[in-house]
Amino acid sequence: MRWAPAVESNYSEAERESDLDVRWFVVHVAQGEADWTVDWFQNPDANVSVHYVADHRTGELTQMLAEEDIGWHAGIWPYNQHSLGIEHSGWVDETHFSDTLYAVSAKIVRWAATEFDFPKRVRRYDIAPCDATGGEGGIIGHDQIPNPNDCSKPGGISGHIDPGSMWNWGRYEGFVRRWDVEPGVLADGAVRHGPDERAETADVTAGAVGTATGSVLVRGGTQWYKLDFDGTPNWVPADDVLYARFDAGSSAKTTSDLSVRADPGGERLAVVPEGTTGTITDCPVDTEGYRWWRLTYDGGEAGWSAGYWLRAE
Ligand SMILES: [Zn+2]
Repeated sequence: MRWAPAVESNYSEAERESDLDVRWFVVHVAQGEADWTVDWFQNPDANVSVHYVADHRTGELTQMLAEEDIGWHAGIWPYNQHSLGIEHSGWVDETHFSDTLYAVSAKIVRWAATEFDFPKRVRRYDIAPCDATGGEGGIIGHDQIPNPNDCSKPGGISGHIDPGSMWNWGRYEGFVRRWDVEPGVLADGAVRHGPDERAETADVTAGAVGTATGSVLVRGGTQWYKLDFDGTPNWVPADDVLYARFDAGSSAKTTSDLSVRADPGGERLAVVPEGTTGTITDCPVDTEGYRWWRLTYDGGEAGWSAGYWLRAE
């Protein structure tokens, strides 16, 4: 990522990592080319700025503000205070956005959501909460931000309509959440042959472990994951999938008797029984065909276990 700082008179210096909750990620379309957009945020006449600029032609990403500083992009101060923002070059209702651009943009959103602990969810508000600290936070368009003088009007102070109708939110959310669905542990029996509530039910038992295929679809307001169950791909509503993906400090529970190893795939130190809970203590390691997590179990055992047999507690 290229670093091209915005001029100091176009943003507010802050220390948000310690002082202010970052809970929104605001998606914009710039109404211009990337170079022009970067130049504008470096121009003292602009009085606007945003953290990232993505070039819709090349996928190049430029950072213009430190995350702890407050960009002037939402058109309402509390949303500026509690958000990060990204401009995508291009034009509202005209530009065709490529998967390359969605992937680049989603990658920074995924990182930010983990770093600042807000949900990796696209919010489908007509208008986001009047109070920027309301709701759960997440990813929204500039066109969903309330007007500071009248919360029933969208688009911030100037009624912005970006990112517009060409921005494919379902596709974007697929990229935002892709990494999360590998592997999945199914919570209940709602597995279907197609991504549709009316599709035929598949013969998969509750608690089955599926492997992500990378396909994610949003249909009728429900997000569906395509998971592979023993070689047969089927569809599951996202809310029925418990991810075998954890952050350090989160709790996990074993879904079978499970080995605790000195290293990922290494020497076995102990076996803990099914239903044992523990705390994740490190980043995952992928090796030997599994994703390994280091845990300290509640019984005192500590070491690496395979994520396939762990679910979030
Ligand atoms: Zn905008």
